[in-house]
Amino acid sequence: MNETARPISDGAEKELGLVYKLHTHGEVELVDYLGTDSSIASAARTSYQKSEGKTEEADRKLIKRLWHDRHTSPFEMVNLTFRIRLPIFVMRQHVRHRTASLNEWSFRYTKCPELFYAPSEDNVRTQSATNKQMSGDALPADTALKAKNIIEATNKKAYATYQELLDIGVSREQARVVLPVSAYTQIVWSIDMRNLLHYFSLRLAEDAQPEIQDYARIMASIVQKGWPMIWEAYSASK
Ligand SMILES: Cc1cc2nc3c(=O)[nH]c(=O)nc-3n(C[C@H](O)[C@H](O)[C@H](O)COP(=O)(O)OP(=O)(O)OC[C@H]3O[C@@H](n4cnc5c(N)ncnc54)[C@H](O)[C@@H]3O)c2cc1C
Repeated sequence: MNETARPISDGAEKELGLVYKLHTHGEVELVDYLGTDSSIASAARTSYQKSEGKTEEADRKLIKRLWHDRHTSPFEMVNLTFRIRLPIFVMRQHVRHRTASLNEWSFRYTKCPELFYAPSEDNVRTQSATNKQMSGDALPADTALKAKNIIEATNKKAYATYQELLDIGVSREQARVVLPVSAYTQIVWSIDMRNLLHYFSLRLAEDAQPEIQDYARIMASIVQKGWPMIWEAYSASK
């Protein structure tokens, strides 16, 4: 490992480069980070120009109090960068979190790969009867299988049409108009801890779409391992 004078988190170091897989072709990987639990405590101590009490326990208490009191700016001192492969319909929700920075695959520049999302048979859901945005229960197995087959066949046909358009000379930027929102895209996504915790509060909530919850859950487990005091403070005052 390279020598570094930067504060590092042992937990985060272990997470770097691990690729978590989910759904059909989804992936989440922590590719870089800046700052540790103690970066937040140190930043907060700047307020009162005192550096004593730097024990781990003092940091833990301070971080808990900061989050509880919504003294959130010290949490912006920590930054995480993920590589995320996600279907476009999840990306459309993900990209609404404007405080993150991102760079995405360009299907103008390169051909879209044949990677499409389809739900597993046990995860095809009915429309909720009580909430217009949400799913309800799982569909019966035979209907779920039928739905899955329809989705997969549609994905296949859309890709064949895309390929046909490319073959007859249509540009990549125009041929892609036939691709469904189940097509996968990939981003590098960088966000500070304050706004990542805000993302969790919205996207781990039960009214968030289950597919984006699955992505949020993986990122939350990475935060839990790399920044345990922050996770503890966040969990204590949700
Ligand atoms: C369950 C659910 C359902 C949703 N349904 C819809 C929907 O039907 N249609 C739809 O379009 N969107 C929908 N959204 C997206 C939602 O409206 C938000 O855009 C998204 O959740 C991002 O939240 P945010 O703005 O707080 O986050 P971020 O964009 O990350 O912003 C973080 C915080 O920064 C501040 N901020 C950022 N930008 C501004 C600004 N321009 N002005 C003032 N303060 C700012 C705010 O305090 C904000 O909370 C839904 C989200 C959820 C979780």
